Amino acid sequence: MAKWGMVIDLDTCTGCQACTTACAMENNRLPSENWQDVLFYHEGTYPNVKLMWFPRPCMHCENPSCVSVCPTKATYKDPDGGFVLMDYNKCIGCKYCQVACPYGVRFYVDEKAVVQPDIRGVFPSEAGRQWDPPYKGPQDDPSRGIGIQPHGVVSKCTFCYHKVSKAPKGVADLDEDIPELKEYVPACVRVCAPKARFFGDLDQPNSNVNKMIADKRGVRLKDETGNKPQVYYLSGGATASVPSLRSMSDSDKG
Ligand code: SF4
Ligand code: SF4
Repeated sequence: MAKWGMVIDLDTCTGCQACTTACAMENNRLPSENWQDVLFYHEGTYPNVKLMWFPRPCMHCENPSCVSVCPTKATYKDPDGGFVLMDYNKCIGCKYCQVACPYGVRFYVDEKAVVQPDIRGVFPSEAGRQWDPPYKGPQDDPSRGIGIQPHGVVSKCTFCYHKVSKAPKGVADLDEDIPELKEYVPACVRVCAPKARFFGDLDQPNSNVNKMIADKRGVRLKDETGNKPQVYYLSGGATASVPSLRSMSDSDKG
């Protein structure tokens, strides 16, 4: 059985946000409610200030705190593939999962549009839905959080379950450069021009993702929470950086 994971090389990431855009298009996100975000922040003191950035999808944790707090089992860990998914049909919108996630990657669609003009005015809702454009995606599956997010539920990144789960069994890495596999590659990985993102099976020792994690000392964000993310970051601190590591090294300097 596969345990899918992502590797993001922070030394290669340019902060272009193509991943954010591709994810939004693939997964019907509302403007500014990004399942795959790139967070920007400043480092240093004026005038010696550096702009830094940090790409952040759902970590699809091995031991996800969002799953254990969900009273309706709407959030669940898929045993085949290691995806953490959302069943929109079971979610009661209590937001426990949103509070429990240490990475802030979950979204509850607000009543007010964050960006104007509000496109929900263009496609008036039906059946109590927050946003109801007059089309259905070919892959729609509300039991896995795929398709238009209905009113009153939490959502998040699916690791492009609708693509990855159709990959041939036993494949170690889903690589854009292998023509017969590229249809199964998550949208954010596929579109990354500097090739800062990689996707593969963490359970296969010879997968490229496992080699990179070992060679470049891949780190998991906020590992102290025990969530065991299936997203690893490679960082030498050149451009983007892992915020938790950065604050540790700052305090080391005194
Ligand atoms: S990153 Fe947050 S939402 Fe994603 S699996 Fe982990 S705890 Fe759940
Ligand atoms: S908001 Fe939905 S998914 Fe989250 S804990 Fe409540 S019922 Fe579960």
